[in-house]
Amino acid sequence: MKNPLYTIELPDIGDFDSVEIIEVLIAPGDHIEIESPLITLESDKATMDIPSPVTGQISELLVSIGQKVSQGDVVATVSIQVDPATDLETSPHDPSVPVGSVDSLPPPDSKKLDVNKGGTTPRFDVAVLGSGPGGYTAAFRASDLGLSVALIERYPNLGGVCLNVGCIPSKALLHAARVIEETREMAPNGISFGEPEIDIRKLCDWKKGVVTQLTEGLSTLAKKRNVTIFSGTGAFRSDHEIAVTNDTQELVLQFEKAIISTGSEPIRLPGIPRDPRILDSTAALSLQSIPERLLVIGGGIIGLEMATVYRALGSAVSIVEMAPQLMPGTDPDLVRPLAKRLKSQCNDIFLNTRVSQVDPGPAELVAHFEGDRVPTSAAFDAILVAVGRTPNGNNIGAENAGLHPDAQGFISVDHQQRTNQPHIFAIGDVVGQPMLAHKATHEGKVAAEVAAGQKSAFDARIIPSVAYTDPEVAWVGLTESQAKARNIAYEKGIFPWAASGRALALARSEGFTKLLFDPQSNRILGGGIVGTTAGDLIAEIGLAIEMNCVAQDIGLTIHPHPTLSETVGLAAETFEGTITDLYAPKKR
Ligand SMILES: Cc1cc2nc3c(=O)[nH]c(=O)nc-3n(C[C@H](O)[C@H](O)[C@H](O)COP(=O)(O)OP(=O)(O)OC[C@H]3O[C@@H](n4cnc5c(N)ncnc54)[C@H](O)[C@@H]3O)c2cc1C
Repeated sequence: MKNPLYTIELPDIGDFDSVEIIEVLIAPGDHIEIESPLITLESDKATMDIPSPVTGQISELLVSIGQKVSQGDVVATVSIQVDPATDLETSPHDPSVPVGSVDSLPPPDSKKLDVNKGGTTPRFDVAVLGSGPGGYTAAFRASDLGLSVALIERYPNLGGVCLNVGCIPSKALLHAARVIEETREMAPNGISFGEPEIDIRKLCDWKKGVVTQLTEGLSTLAKKRNVTIFSGTGAFRSDHEIAVTNDTQELVLQFEKAIISTGSEPIRLPGIPRDPRILDSTAALSLQSIPERLLVIGGGIIGLEMATVYRALGSAVSIVEMAPQLMPGTDPDLVRPLAKRLKSQCNDIFLNTRVSQVDPGPAELVAHFEGDRVPTSAAFDAILVAVGRTPNGNNIGAENAGLHPDAQGFISVDHQQRTNQPHIFAIGDVVGQPMLAHKATHEGKVAAEVAAGQKSAFDARIIPSVAYTDPEVAWVGLTESQAKARNIAYEKGIFPWAASGRALALARSEGFTKLLFDPQSNRILGGGIVGTTAGDLIAEIGLAIEMNCVAQDIGLTIHPHPTLSETVGLAAETFEGTITDLYAPKKR
């Protein structure tokens, strides 16, 4: 088979145009690997190497030292090696463009390749479908345990929703929001900065940089572990084969064991038209513009996090939630301080309300509401739909492997992450709630270890939840709502942050820390925190539950002073009646 010729163009190098080449590191005939440096550029701000996007042999060199180049200029042509086992990995891709887009098409004269034709079918001990936090963790752990691993991903970057369009970019933007709010809030305390000047492009570049650092780190880790990456959409052909297809190629690989980690995608609301001003979380995170009036449909964690970001960046935000409270399912007392703050910041918060229709006009979107004491309609410049996520279990040829996802697309598994086919595992969002990255990684390790013959099982007692809003809300283990619904006896210890020196010094004393205990044994059952950095504080309560701690274990653990972490120890002391920072003698 003739090796196809690939044209290497200068990629996006940031804010630079016409940059001088100070070194050429390749010559015709040279063998290059992906990431091999090709040329060195020098601008007035930086010196940078341009890496190769492909593996192959330099066919023609089209630049020279001293030449000034810009994005899109041709650097060289490369004869790409087509290796039946790994050729999909080496298909050129621009990290910013999804596989399947025009930019990842093959050189003009190449045809769709069936690399299995005349070649061998690559075989792996484990094929992992999807490279989110579940998938990459499973792939890396399986490789560390000595298995040969294929990792199949339809998008150019590893990391899945979490790294690319979920946890990480949202937290970067929430940090920006926090900085804006904190500086604003110091004004009454004697420090004023004036209104922020927001350069959205720079903010986006910074956020992209954070994501790229992590996703590129994953590629390096995969390479170091000899995990073979296949770029393309995977679908089962049989119970031991997966076909991987991208714009240029189709390849079938065989596996002994497979781990499905295809994650989830945003739910689309029926009746809401397609319009570029109607966003899902991915579009909202891309931060194309800051709408003057933003409606957030869905008062869950993702909706409220994005509301926090856009409101800090200057949008007038309204929130609509069908349930009677924001963050339905969370203990109402934990949500209250957040709801109070949002109420003072947002235009409107409509509870018990549904959006029945959206009419897109040329200048604005008109949303129609059904609910108690709400207007029948209101106009917005953009609408974010954040009403939950649906699993990707129904579009992977599951039936060809003898698997039975449910109607929604969830794949059920046992405590070892095995599906109804014992050699096929499933992990992460695709197996069910809670759809959280740390649950996916934990399950990924279990699946990989079981695939490698170990007797692992998912036996975690708790999975913490965090809303990275402002204030943050975090909870772990048994909640009060669950205890009441299930008739579980409990007693609680609450420490109000109004009595925390650290919270007062941060000018954020609206929070509290709550611990639930078994009244018979004093063992901790659960806990919740609302307040700034609650997400970082909740881990201690998680550990206490995993270690089966009693209240005394927590109260007698010396916490550093003055910290917000003290509030965990003090909540345990409140339960015990040993607290001296409050007047709360034990009643029983
Ligand atoms: C805006 C937002 C913020 C979030 N913030 C947090 C947070 O702060 N903390 C937290 O714990 N969770 C958060 N989440 C949830 C978290 O992102 C998910 O729970 C987590 O990513 C699930 O991991 P996963 O491995 O199951 O799947 P995913 O991360 O969804 O990855 C699945 C991967 O599989 C690939 N794939 C799917 N089908 C195929 C196929 N047929 N062939 C090849 N590849 C395929 C997808 O392209 C994707 O890369 C957030 C989500 C969103 C949307």
